[in-house]
Amino acid sequence: MARTRNIWVLPEISDNGEEINKLSLGLLTGARDVAEKVGGTVTALVPGDRTADYSDILGKYGVSRVYIFQDPLLQYSLAEAYVAALLPRIQAEKPWLILMGHTTIGRELAPRLAALLDTGVITNCARIDFSQPEQPKFSRPVYGDQLYQEVVFQTDNTMLVTMDPRALNVTPAARPVKVRALTIEPKLTAESIKTRHLEYLPADSRTVDIADASTIVSAGMGAVTDEILPLVEELADLIEGAIGTTRPVVDGGKIPRERMIGQTGKVVSPEYYLALGISGATHHVGGIQDSGKIVAVNRDPQAPIFQSSDVGAAADLKEVLPALIERIKRARDNGEIL
Ligand SMILES: Cc1cc2nc3c(=O)[nH]c(=O)nc-3n(C[C@H](O)[C@H](O)[C@H](O)COP(=O)(O)OP(=O)(O)OC[C@H]3O[C@@H](n4cnc5c(N)ncnc54)[C@H](O)[C@@H]3O)c2cc1C
Repeated sequence: MARTRNIWVLPEISDNGEEINKLSLGLLTGARDVAEKVGGTVTALVPGDRTADYSDILGKYGVSRVYIFQDPLLQYSLAEAYVAALLPRIQAEKPWLILMGHTTIGRELAPRLAALLDTGVITNCARIDFSQPEQPKFSRPVYGDQLYQEVVFQTDNTMLVTMDPRALNVTPAARPVKVRALTIEPKLTAESIKTRHLEYLPADSRTVDIADASTIVSAGMGAVTDEILPLVEELADLIEGAIGTTRPVVDGGKIPRERMIGQTGKVVSPEYYLALGISGATHHVGGIQDSGKIVAVNRDPQAPIFQSSDVGAAADLKEVLPALIERIKRARDNGEIL
């Protein structure tokens, strides 16, 4: 007998319980898409310490059932507590597929669950091919996004997949669905969970995820010499900007890959994007178009970045950066800016 194709999905709801983020709406959209292709249903899993069932928003995205796992120990997104809450339900109902984001919690949770369920996990999946619904093919970027690897599950157990946030689109269902909500109280005990949430620390603007940053100071090949890069970092510190970069800089090992912006990097939408020593290749510009204001400095007046920027200076960073840093410091000292 053909197995029912129940798709479970873990949207991420902020710890204050107020918002389902864009990535999660993308996951809900993706889960509905899968359900439509394979004739399944979508169940959302919502661990937390609250009573809200989010039916309105979940129904808009085609979710027909939501399991609210309610326990004081689920107040914060701790993978260990999530596993303790979700595992018995998964073991009892054996969903066909569980989708989560390739995020901090998804990366930690999926392998833990996979080990305990004795199944596999496919991480950072960008595409799913359902031409053979009984054995979908999952594609994931490898070798720094140069190639895609196709993977299939060889198991009858639940398939666990974390989705690449870049691959998700947000589209509500054509018609809202009525959501059935079930509250489950897993009754977790503090002794069985070894990790504890202590406090939230303010994000260091230089290490904050560039996808969430409101100011990005981005260093291209023209800004990563031994002389210029420390100035870029000093400027980023001063204006609390997150450091971004281009692909050749990452390939050269000067700035880590998670800071790369563009078609094969992250798509960013800060209020201010400073493009320093960046030529403005379409591969890069594709990732910055949702920025509020783009300010570019490049010594080549013909650099394509000027066509995409709101403010541009055709100048050498060796001269511009010390003067700009000096000017900002003076304005701070004089109380002209905070
Ligand atoms: C399939 C594919 C996918 C790609 N994906 C991405 C992607 O996601 N993101 C990405 O960024 N790239 C990507 N690339 C690479 C992209 O095509 C460009 O090569 C890259 O964006 C260029 O990086 P850059 O601007 O730092 O370097 P360059 O093009 O070398 O530009 C350096 C600039 O710095 C200026 N400069 C030099 N010295 C100074 C100075 N002292 N003061 C002021 N200006 C100075 C120069 O005039 C020049 O314009 C991809 C390429 C391919 C083929």
